Amino acid sequence: MSNETPWNFLMDMDGVLVREEHLVPGADAFVAELRDNGIGFMVLTNNSIYTPRDLQARLKRTGLEIPEASIWTSALATARFLDEQRPGGSAYVVGESGLTTALHNIGYVLTDRDPDYVVLGETRTYSFEAITRAIRLVENGARFIATNPDEKGPSREGSLPATGAVAALIERVTGRAPYYVGKPNPLMMRSALRTLGAHSESTLMIGDRMDTDVRSGLEAGLQTILVLSGISDRDTAELFPYRPTKVMNSVADLVGITHDPFGTTAAAENA
Ligand SMILES: [Mg+2]
Repeated sequence: MSNETPWNFLMDMDGVLVREEHLVPGADAFVAELRDNGIGFMVLTNNSIYTPRDLQARLKRTGLEIPEASIWTSALATARFLDEQRPGGSAYVVGESGLTTALHNIGYVLTDRDPDYVVLGETRTYSFEAITRAIRLVENGARFIATNPDEKGPSREGSLPATGAVAALIERVTGRAPYYVGKPNPLMMRSALRTLGAHSESTLMIGDRMDTDVRSGLEAGLQTILVLSGISDRDTAELFPYRPTKVMNSVADLVGITHDPFGTTAAAENA
């Protein structure tokens, strides 16, 4: 007779479920197992460009059925943070609909006149004018928030400058560093946990990066699984001063064991 704790799953999106818009083999079976067994899960992304609805549609095109409510972005985490810090506030936003929608949904006023915050997210159309406006507002006392610290993102043609790089530009001019809400800030995990209604001790985080996914997972008190289907490989993972609870080739290895991903003996070994 089993009385094991049912696990909840937080998982990174890129490098874990999809890779450059293609399904990671077996990710569909893994997600189906979670859904079919009513296991709580949330898909996390530092990308603030898209709304959960956009992302749901993009994932569906790769063959993944993820409900909109099971997607947690750095834009949503940023909105949650601001709603708790200063409800009904105002912000000047440099970003896309993923971010502006999230802020509208918490009742924020978006303005370029004396806002409480400058909120920087990711876009593919950073404008000199908008960045200049953000700089001047920060100089005039607006608090500086950025959705995520990633300096670059991947594309088929090469690196793309991302939120962290533009934040560095604003910081260099103003001398004011932003507060980053997304991974590796464990705030991102905690707000996802709360949205899921899950507890840290019965939740695990699956990610493909040691420096963001595994780090923020363990700092939020979760068990962690590093998958090798994305950025990290076994050798580079060993160089970090912290380790995941378990390393797996991909989420395909979790199919069939989502009820007991560490096994009782493995759990004792890793303790
Ligand atoms: Mg990733």
